[in-house]
Amino acid sequence: MGSIRLENVSKSFGEATVIPSLDLDIEDGEFVVFVGPSGCGKSTLLRLIAGLEDVSGGRILIDGNEVTDTPPAKRRLAMVFQSYALYPHMSVRGNIAFPLKMAGEDKAVIDKKVGDAARVLNLTDYLDRKPRQLSGGQRQRVAIGRAIVREPTAFLFDEPLSNLDAALRVNMRLEISELHQQLATTMIYVTHDQVEAMTMADKIVVLNAGRIEQVGSPLELYRNPKNLFVAGFIGSPK
Ligand code: ADP
Ligand code: MG
Repeated sequence: MGSIRLENVSKSFGEATVIPSLDLDIEDGEFVVFVGPSGCGKSTLLRLIAGLEDVSGGRILIDGNEVTDTPPAKRRLAMVFQSYALYPHMSVRGNIAFPLKMAGEDKAVIDKKVGDAARVLNLTDYLDRKPRQLSGGQRQRVAIGRAIVREPTAFLFDEPLSNLDAALRVNMRLEISELHQQLATTMIYVTHDQVEAMTMADKIVVLNAGRIEQVGSPLELYRNPKNLFVAGFIGSPK
């Protein structure tokens, strides 16, 4: 489970229309990358799907059920941000366990889920450390761990690697791709980085000023860009 459908979705902030009208189908288990220049509406679109912003018009469906007015906590989507948003005073264990504690889960269940997530993310040896004692990549893994334990129907990543240096970014890309293979959960990944889009996506959504320019596999977009914008963005690295 994890299909997401946007029908005629629009978003304005006051007078400013950021997303005029957008239709999109994401299939269960797909790794979808939203790519486009800064300010084109990628984060806004992700926040609309997560329910962190209300749509101005249109409908959002998850697994065929309308969630347009459903609060974020009930959408079963997990958002991972670039800033990690870890609690500095809590251990890695405490950070990963936090959403489960909030949900009132039993200690035994929490220990099992945190242990499983730590294994998947190679954090088993770091569970008692504080975030400041971790590398940037490890902190990002903790943030992902905190998402995993909630067993979301989809993961939403907003430029999760943009704070990391180039070498680490390549590693983390591979780790997130591997995680996608292991979990087989829908992932939506926002980036302005063409290389990330081309190497990670099953499906790329190219956005420009709140509109979809083209949707397709990396190969389709590379071979048959629909217009100069897509060609410029995907075809030739800047
Ligand atoms: P991206 O993530 O692609 O860089 P954003 O979705 O953050 O773009 O922003 C798209 C546009 O919407 C920008 O022009 C931005 O200034 C505007 N915007 C985003 N959030 C708000 C907000 N809360 N209030 C007003 N304008 C906003
Ligand atoms: Mg953004």
